[in-house]
Amino acid sequence: MPIATVNPASGETLLSFDPLGAGEIERRVAAADSAFRTYRTTGFDERARLLNRAADLLEQDAPEIARTMTTEMGKPVAAARAEALKCAKSMRWYAEHAEELLADERPSDADVKDSGAARASVHYRPLGVVLAVMPWNFPLWQVVRFAAPALMAGNVGLLKHASNVPQTALYLEDLFRRAGFPVGCFQTLLVGSGAVEAILRDPRVAAATLTGSEPAGRSVAAIAADEVKKTVLELGGSDPYVVMPSADIERAARTAVTARVQNNGQSCIAAKRFIVHEDVYDAFAERFTAGMRDLTVGDPLDESTDVGPLSSEQGRTDLEELVDDALSGGATALCGGRRPKGYEQGWFYTPTVLAGITGSMRIHREETFGPVATLYRVAGLDEAVALANDTPFGLSSNVWTRDEEEMRRFVRDLEAGGVFFNGMTASHPALPFGGVKRSGYGRELSAHGIREFCNITTVWYGAEPDNGS
Ligand code: NAP
Repeated sequence: MPIATVNPASGETLLSFDPLGAGEIERRVAAADSAFRTYRTTGFDERARLLNRAADLLEQDAPEIARTMTTEMGKPVAAARAEALKCAKSMRWYAEHAEELLADERPSDADVKDSGAARASVHYRPLGVVLAVMPWNFPLWQVVRFAAPALMAGNVGLLKHASNVPQTALYLEDLFRRAGFPVGCFQTLLVGSGAVEAILRDPRVAAATLTGSEPAGRSVAAIAADEVKKTVLELGGSDPYVVMPSADIERAARTAVTARVQNNGQSCIAAKRFIVHEDVYDAFAERFTAGMRDLTVGDPLDESTDVGPLSSEQGRTDLEELVDDALSGGATALCGGRRPKGYEQGWFYTPTVLAGITGSMRIHREETFGPVATLYRVAGLDEAVALANDTPFGLSSNVWTRDEEEMRRFVRDLEAGGVFFNGMTASHPALPFGGVKRSGYGRELSAHGIREFCNITTVWYGAEPDNGS
């Protein structure tokens, strides 16, 4: 894949970059290794000062970097600005909380005595150079939610960003440099995916985190396993959105539209499969379809646009194939199911709702990365849970109900890293984020995220010998 900014709203290549050669990659890995040796000894106050400074700069830069992101991958510009501000807020959160999240722990006196130690403690020490392989869909947020905790823990980062967001990738390196992080603490490597293996196998690289597709995750995890290196994987999702009879149907339908089309439908945690109880199916389907039909598709730099183009021509082709397969297998398009008229340039797709999905259709099992919803009718809670879990993925889930007993059942039975009631899945720095099954493993954000790239070290002090009295 060429490393280039190609405007998805026009298909025009705006800027291309040569990938780094082997010599330059070596220089940067060496700089990261060298930076880690000193940066690891800095205190939380100093790291927090630098990260807060990065947050200040990002807030100032938000309007400009938002336009760059929109031009590179097509998200509506208002959402791009919001993403930049969320990143700044999350940097401040980790700057404030990292010290308490990584504070030394002491076992109870009874356990210490039982271990034979005079005293014992647990310390969270940084692992070293962490390679981050990141996707284009939230080109700032995916990186910051790795970088903020990693840097606060005393690690240093090497970013291999998606090839279609090179300007955002370079901006991130520049942001941390301007904030005052020492040379080598955070570097962007403009390389294709073929360069990842050699970097990951380099003994100076301690660990890797990848957010992206299942094939990319499998490849990186296999290499890391061969090198016995820690990985965190945040992969795809096909999140269920269950609507039960006690739900506020008006709100559930309105939120469903946003949950499906946020980021032009290209979000791992977007709701993708809408599983609706038969008692409220017709009311929900009517409102949801009307909401999807009313969305404004258009230029993502226009503030009034709801849904911009898909990020790449291939992305649209993949989505069209899933929809066409479903339609030819007997599904019905309640709206959409085609490209919008009047958009000859760019990779636009009409917001779509499909009903009549069967288990033999590809769309039932695969992730729809675009503004396409599948609608299912179920007879009760057991069927809703079974259908929600009938997917290779397990990232998050959404349930609309006011019934406490139903809530307990969904929390107990849904196979997902999150269960969001009466709302849509979102991320917050204080709450862990990640999935099960083919959605990956490990967690980002919160205490769980910052500890993923720590060496959890046991420190044990033997008792002083009895001096014979
Ligand atoms: P992708 O093709 O897997 O790309 C993600 C990153 O991995 C890019 O930097 C890409 O580089 C690199 N890559 C691709 N193949 C690789 C390989 N074999 N070895 C090493 N690196 C490789 O995914 P995408 O299409 O950009 O992103 C969409 C996917 O990401 C969806 O499945 C979505 O659900 C998932 N996602 C998950 C989360 C989460 O938190 N769970 C968040 C966002 C997105 P190039 O660009 O150079 O190919």
